[in-house]
Amino acid sequence: MEQYSEERQSVIDSAQWLLSQGYFGPELGTAGNVSVRIGDEKLIAITPSGCPYQNLVPDDICIVDFDQNVVSGTHRPSVETGMHLGVYEAREDVRAIVHTHQPFASILSIINEPIPPLFDDITMALGGGVEVVPYAMSGSVDLVQNVAKVVTNGCNAFIMQNHGALCLGATIEKATKNVAFLEKIAHVYYHALATGKKITQLPKEAVEMLIQLSKDKEGI
Ligand SMILES: [Zn+2]
Repeated sequence: MEQYSEERQSVIDSAQWLLSQGYFGPELGTAGNVSVRIGDEKLIAITPSGCPYQNLVPDDICIVDFDQNVVSGTHRPSVETGMHLGVYEAREDVRAIVHTHQPFASILSIINEPIPPLFDDITMALGGGVEVVPYAMSGSVDLVQNVAKVVTNGCNAFIMQNHGALCLGATIEKATKNVAFLEKIAHVYYHALATGKKITQLPKEAVEMLIQLSKDKEGI
């Protein structure tokens, strides 16, 4: 039996669900990546580069240390492994990360439009609004630095300029669910912007209370 089988399977379950929902782009494939931290070790399980997600088996998932060495697995890890590790270094509370090319967040990524807090449930799940991470090329050190800087705001969802989205969570289930929350809010916000009418945001006090409530619930 392979090492870290539980974490590897959780990455596959998340990746295949996200693929089935169209969050990895229109094609069946690998437009995005998923990782989870392993216990208290400085290790993550992450999707491989260039393997169709619908066919993944636990052995295909790469186990990588915080210096980007592959500890277990025969495939090359995702090209965005450095970005995932940068987030884990910056945020102790984050235990899982999903990067997608989901459609409505991608629309906002090319008009450079952050999403303000608009609904109670989504604000609680995402820990506030959704900021835009400035553009840098996929797999670049600049992108790792841009992402690591923006995620220190403590929120759980981000738009990546001219690229896609990034969702975080205290568990892989939460990070995966946050992808759906982000897409819902991006979808609604895009259509609301298109009306040209004034958009009402949640009052500041309500946002602060919702963020506090979500932290109390997490026990952070
Ligand atoms: Zn990408």
